[in-house]
Amino acid sequence: MMDCLFCKIVAREIPAKLAFENEHVVAFHDIRPMAPTHVLVIPKKHIVGIGQATEDDVAVLGHVMLAGRLVAEELHLDDGYRLVVNNGENAGQSVFHLHLHVLGGRALGWPPG
Ligand code: 5GP
Repeated sequence: MMDCLFCKIVAREIPAKLAFENEHVVAFHDIRPMAPTHVLVIPKKHIVGIGQATEDDVAVLGHVMLAGRLVAEELHLDDGYRLVVNNGENAGQSVFHLHLHVLGGRALGWPPG
């Protein structure tokens, strides 16, 4: 996707502070962190959101989730962390390339806003 911000991060056309990468996903620190640790895990494949994912995406969705766990372990979120996917504007999705938020480093309120 030519005009997708996160595709440009995957392609290294826009800089980001990387936390993890493998053949399926890239993880990088959020530019406006909402917690002491706030990392985004994205598939290298452009998927608009979880609402647009298909059966073909099952494996990559698993890689995204597992990368979220690996990032949490690597960044020592030993007291707990939250994995969040916002889908659609009412849920606060502002970038339309699927991403998993990894949030930790403080007590997180529930329910989210
Ligand atoms: P959403 O609101 O779509 O669930 O999450 C998008 C996230 O992307 C937000 O937390 C926002 O701060 C982050 N973000 C937006 N633009 C950039 C950017 O250029 N670089 C990085 N690292 N994060 C970004």
